[in-house]
Parts: sequence; structure tokens; C-alpha cells
Amino acid sequence: MHVVAGVDLGGTAINYTLIDEEEHFLIEGLCEHPALSKQGPAICLQQIEDGLAVAAATAGVSLADIVAVGLDTPGPASAAGVLSARGSTNFVHPDWAGFDMRSGLEKKLGRPVNYLNDGNAGALWGHFTIFGATRVATSISAIIGTGLGGGVIVDGNVVKGRSGFGGELGHVLLPYRSIAGIEGLNPVCNCGRTGDLESLCSLTAIEKSLLPYFLGRNPGHQLGQLGDLHKAAKLVRGLAEDGEPLSREIFRVQAHALGLFFDEMVNTFDPDALIIGGGALETGEDFQRWFIQETRKAMPVQRLEQADIPIYVMPNGDTAGSRGAAIEALKLYRRAL
Ligand SMILES: [Zn+2]
Repeated sequence: MHVVAGVDLGGTAINYTLIDEEEHFLIEGLCEHPALSKQGPAICLQQIEDGLAVAAATAGVSLADIVAVGLDTPGPASAAGVLSARGSTNFVHPDWAGFDMRSGLEKKLGRPVNYLNDGNAGALWGHFTIFGATRVATSISAIIGTGLGGGVIVDGNVVKGRSGFGGELGHVLLPYRSIAGIEGLNPVCNCGRTGDLESLCSLTAIEKSLLPYFLGRNPGHQLGQLGDLHKAAKLVRGLAEDGEPLSREIFRVQAHALGLFFDEMVNTFDPDALIIGGGALETGEDFQRWFIQETRKAMPVQRLEQADIPIYVMPNGDTAGSRGAAIEALKLYRRAL
């Protein structure tokens, strides 16, 4: 039996999955452990090797059955999996600076390892849930979490770009002044741009821009009473789902920003599907439907041929990274045969 592993390595958690040659995932839920990233590459790579043995046992296969591995991590890292020499918020140990994760893990495991950043891995998972691993199709995935990640899949292939920054969708600028109800708002992103997708459509955007803006106009609101924007921002999704007006309004603004972004993508790629993932839509289906409706409403009128491009919500948010990494590694393994 030949199986391919997917390893999603973050700053705090590490998550494994296994996929067989028929594209069946052998681990249903989360196979997750606290990550030892803070202790540097030597200890962390050992943890991955040990974790793969646990994952194999969970799935009822042997470690020797694993023929290839897909690894994904948050960036910044090159397309080949070399971490930035300036370090990274998720990999703070000094030994990580400039570390070649892909070849380091390949040496450690004695198997081919393929690298993706976590946004692109998530996008591949979203794409796979709709089109499978072999159909030639184009999709754009926007993953709304703490930041805004995602990726572009063109004809089944993930766009990594020259330096590994392909699909950094969060920093694409939007004509945000056309969004109603946020007159005078100056949404600044951590990247320094004003009015890009992440500056309006992310948990960080809620905390830094949208919540202060709306609370300033609604003194006495329950979220303002908390006196802690970080905590309050995390409550907005639940309140929005319950229909609380200010929180709904924040999500409407986010949907509007996403609609403007999707319109840009429609005209750039003419995709088969637009996909929304991440924590923002880990909600009931009614709320997801409303959010998609608001997103679509914000898109300018499309050409007749493009008006029916479907918008999907990505399933299984927690496992998206490891599953996407496994799918890409399986594809490359097949090509190498
Ligand atoms: Zn940005």
C-alpha cells in the first residue's frame, strides 16, 4: 500500500493527514498535537517524524507505506520552502532563520517532501473538494482568519509565483471607498497598505478598524462595554450569526469587500469557482448563505457568461492545510512515477 502524508506545521499546533492513491483521506477528524516550533528545527523535525508514526498507526497503515510527504507552514518562506532569513512570527527560534524546511524534512524522513505555504495548501483543499485532484479547473480561494490568506489554482495548478508569494490575496488593493456605511474609515493593513482585502476582511480588520469605527458611532454598545477590543472582536461572528445589528453590519462590510475582490478575480482569471474559507464562516448554513448573498450583491454586474460563477464555502477548515499539502504531494508523486 502507498500513502502520502500531509503535515500542517504552525506556530502552536501541528496537524497530520494521510491520503491513499485513490484520493481517500485515511484520517477523518483532526490529528493534532501542540507544535514544538519554538524549540527550533532539530526538535521540530524530530516531532514531525514521531507524529507521522502516530498518524500511520491511527490510520492502520505502517510508516513504511508513506511514500511522499507534503508540508505546509505559515510564511514568509520561499516557494521552495526556505524560511525568511529575517525570521517569522511563527518560527521565532534563531535556528529557523533562513532554514530550508523542505530539504531538512526530506533528509530527516528519507522521502520526497513538497512544500506549500498554508494559504496555498488551504486553497488546494478547497479546490479539491469541488473538482477532485485531476480535473482541469480554475478557482480562487479567500480564507478569512486572523489575516486573509488563500490562493489561486489555475487549470489545477497552484500559482506559487517567482518567490513564493503568489496568492497573497490579502494585500490586493480594493476600491474600498465604494463600500457604503464606512465613510471616513481609513483601514490600514499590517503590510502598510490602506484598503487592501485583509484590512477589511479578517479578524484583525475587525479588531483594528471595523469595531473601533462602529463602536465610535454606537456608544454604549455591549461590545464597547467589554473595554477589550481583542476579546470583543472574537465575539462579533457569533453575535452576527444571532442577528445583532452592529455585528451584522461588520460582516456585511466584510462581504462587500470580498465581493469587490472577487470581481477583480473574475476579470483576471475567469474562474470556474470562487471559494470562501476560514474561521469567519465556521457558522450555520443560514449565515453562510446570507454572507454569500451579500458578497454577490457587492459584485458589479457581470457579463452574461460569468454571472453564474458559483461561490462555495470550504468545508473542514481545521484540516484544510494538511489535506491540501497531501493532495499536492500526491499529484507530484504520481507525476514522478
Ligand atoms: Zn495588506
